[in-house]
Amino acid sequence: MQMTFAATLMAAATAVVPAAAQDTGSAAGTAAGTGVKVTPLGSHDGEFCARDRALVFEDPDGTRILYDAGRTVAGAEDARLGDIDAVLVSHVHGDHLGDQRIEQVNAGTCAQPDTGVSTTPNSNSAEIAAGKNAKVVVGSEMAQFFAGKLKALGGNPDDSLLVRFGGSRMVGGVAITTVPAVHSNGLSGDFVDGPLGEHLKTAGLNAYVGPPTGYVLTFSNGLVAYLSGDTGVTAEQDTVVSKQYGAKLVVINIGDVFTTGPSEAAHVVDAIVKPTSVIPSHANEMATENGEVVAGSKTEAFLQAVETTAHLPLSGRTMTFDESGACTDGC
Ligand SMILES: [Zn+2]
Repeated sequence: MQMTFAATLMAAATAVVPAAAQDTGSAAGTAAGTGVKVTPLGSHDGEFCARDRALVFEDPDGTRILYDAGRTVAGAEDARLGDIDAVLVSHVHGDHLGDQRIEQVNAGTCAQPDTGVSTTPNSNSAEIAAGKNAKVVVGSEMAQFFAGKLKALGGNPDDSLLVRFGGSRMVGGVAITTVPAVHSNGLSGDFVDGPLGEHLKTAGLNAYVGPPTGYVLTFSNGLVAYLSGDTGVTAEQDTVVSKQYGAKLVVINIGDVFTTGPSEAAHVVDAIVKPTSVIPSHANEMATENGEVVAGSKTEAFLQAVETTAHLPLSGRTMTFDESGACTDGC
């Protein structure tokens, strides 16, 4: 009887060990093995700079997702990327898709990063996805566009995956859906090969690739994150992001003119989505100097306006969030 009990215990212990070891293996350096790690990939180490949009999300199961690479990731060879399983592109404007990019981190100034490497017509996002053999997960009419780009770059066009509003797709342990953004989504002729691209530019027109999007990600630990993309205030921030999904972590664009500004973004966070934590993004300014918020900046205005706990996206600094959206490490 006693022997059987001990044997059962041992069997249970043996079954647990490999899973625990796997957890530690994918934890990549920080303490909270069950948290979601968020690492900003901006133009300048330790700062929040004018062109910064890119974030890497790492699920506790090791799945790594790059959101809006833009211009501040030095292509697929950027050492900060590590493995990437999926590339998200909220919309195809050049500052998100990546019409140019940095050659290396810390080039130029935080206010005016040197993004002199041209990535048209294929885009920084498509080059990274092809180089990493990653999926591209996009909404609207963008999946076919990316399939063509992956093929042109020697990648697999079948890696471009569509997920329209209301549906979801799994990449590793992460469920991904798109949500509406109130913005625009014209594709510049710079990204279109041949005479059509030239005709578009001559006519001052953009190609149609469907509406712009944001994303809701549901991680394997239960954390739900809303990535706004470029948007104004939307009805779906209430009906879908808050009421349906109950997002606990929000990444919201605060740049003004092109998107919600500091006070509008604060309203969306505090009065509509009501998450536990918020990360401001897309400030279009030198928001920090030596890691401290610059006085008089839009980022400072947002931090003063918002009541929800806010965390700055300092490039290269990994923040860990638990399932409730609370930052448990790196903030
Ligand atoms: Zn933008």
